Amino acid sequence: MRFSKTLVPTLKEAPAEAEVPSHVFMVRGGYLRKVAAGIYSFLPLGWRVIQKITGIVREEMNRAGASEVFLPAVIPAELWQESGRWDKYGAQLLRFKDRKGGNFVIGPTHEEVIVDLVRGDVRSYRQLPLNLYQVQTKFRDELRPRAGLMRGREFIMKDAYSFHVDEDDAKREYRNMYDAYTRIFTRCGLSFRAVEADTGAIGGSLSHEFQVLTETGEDVLVACDRCDYAANVEQAESRVGERALGAGSGVEALTKVRTPGQGSIDDVSAFLGLPSTQFAKTLIYIADGKPVAAMIRGDRTLNEVKLKKALGAVADPVMATEAMVLAATGAPVGFAGPIGLTIPVWCDREIAEMVDFVVGANEVDVHYRGVNLTRDFTPTGTAGIRQAAPGDRCPRCADGTFKSYRGIEVGQVFFLGQKYSEPMKANFLDASGHERSMVMGCYGIGVTRIAAAAIEQNHDKDGIIWPTPIAPYEVALLSLQGDDPGLRAVCDRLYAELESLGIEVLYDDRDERPGVKFKDADLIGIPWRVALGKKGLAEGIVEVKPRRSSEVQKVKLDEAVAFVAARVKEERR
Ligand code: ATP
Ligand code: MG
Repeated sequence: MRFSKTLVPTLKEAPAEAEVPSHVFMVRGGYLRKVAAGIYSFLPLGWRVIQKITGIVREEMNRAGASEVFLPAVIPAELWQESGRWDKYGAQLLRFKDRKGGNFVIGPTHEEVIVDLVRGDVRSYRQLPLNLYQVQTKFRDELRPRAGLMRGREFIMKDAYSFHVDEDDAKREYRNMYDAYTRIFTRCGLSFRAVEADTGAIGGSLSHEFQVLTETGEDVLVACDRCDYAANVEQAESRVGERALGAGSGVEALTKVRTPGQGSIDDVSAFLGLPSTQFAKTLIYIADGKPVAAMIRGDRTLNEVKLKKALGAVADPVMATEAMVLAATGAPVGFAGPIGLTIPVWCDREIAEMVDFVVGANEVDVHYRGVNLTRDFTPTGTAGIRQAAPGDRCPRCADGTFKSYRGIEVGQVFFLGQKYSEPMKANFLDASGHERSMVMGCYGIGVTRIAAAAIEQNHDKDGIIWPTPIAPYEVALLSLQGDDPGLRAVCDRLYAELESLGIEVLYDDRDERPGVKFKDADLIGIPWRVALGKKGLAEGIVEVKPRRSSEVQKVKLDEAVAFVAARVKEERR
């Protein structure tokens, strides 16, 4: 493609809201333009990247035995009511009415539509297993769309759904998809890790996320330094001591201490001269409409997903407001404690290992110290409800500890079981003529998010450094004096020869200064740069440079095409 004939509007400055490199460079490099919060137009370069990614995804899904379909983006509410998600999915679901007053949603995910399709046309075990996928625009009304393609409201997803006669076969397909995902992300040139994951709003019981490891990732992961256990912190379990609840009580007597104005752990800890690990925080939550107290060690973070599971709550627990805390504990925020509370009290397992600790006394400006389980209070229950942290002990091996990483979730695989097929009656007749619910799996990939994640992993201060398989073009050909007819003729010939060998070339034929062309080439990030000016032409020398290194190679003009084509082909996957 000739630069002069396409639309690559590069910019010197990024918009103020762009903070992460992928967002900055995609806007500056003329890949992307914002239409509304979390909604973007793809320009020619951006769309080529998306099509490269989609191409790899399709090849590997087809190779894995899945068949492509295309489902509607607009879905009637009845299907979502049938699965129960019309009420549960919350504000991320964009709902609207058509002219006749019928309720519809724009699909954030497509379990309902696919189950409806399959239950209509698949009746017998002979038609199973099936794996159907699509590449499609999704809409999720995210609270905080951010970082360009990383968290959009409208984005492109590859979603696949598989249907099986039993759990064993669904688990075989889960493995098959896990392997296909590993091939897809490897071919996209990403450095990633599959981690055990929470099943979130999609539901089910077994799941892995594919996380691209980078500093700017939103997700926090922990991985064992000895074995291959790795998990999202939302899911990770840490090994706790074997000590029984209340065993080995401390020596201090229970005493009330005055702590005027010391409502935060840091304040009280400084005030009493005790480390934060000697405190237990009591957090008041509202779960399914009722208040409940959740206790974790002073330096820990509560994990709401784990709390929800421990409580067996239907809805996500939410932090109580100040007024609710006052009503439940009789004291303002900062002074809640388990002693004398009348609402259920859930302790993190770690609390069971603590002795002589400090808690709020449900009185303003007062704490208890010397607190011991079960001498001073008995909780309603204990469960792992805190977030895992670096340094925690691994639950799978004897002596490993956790390290923490940040990641960008580019894909997730779920074993769903009969979560959708049962309520939506996706049944089949087995070999002995009995009617049974199908067993399902579902598998998502954030196609547009992959583009952002790849840039987060591959850039420098000047711009993007695309992995060749997903680069918009493979070679940037720069004619350094675009107005010189002799030079133009030679560059036109190089362009035609590279293209005839199947190499994808962005030919910068603009009438711009060399400095501008070099800067734009670095910003756009095409893996190979081939530059020719009048001086090189006179010497019969072309300058070839990989975007990834600063090493310029001088290649003879008549060998340049073969040289570059060979390098590019080595890097294709
Ligand atoms: P997240 O936790 O990041 O909100 P999710 O777990 O809700 O994502 P899934 O339902 O697993 O997302 O969707 C499959 C894939 O779609 C994700 O792995 C991710 O790569 C991509 N994806 C999800 N939400 C977005 C979004 N708002 N913008 C871009 N890609 C997204
Ligand atoms: Mg996910």
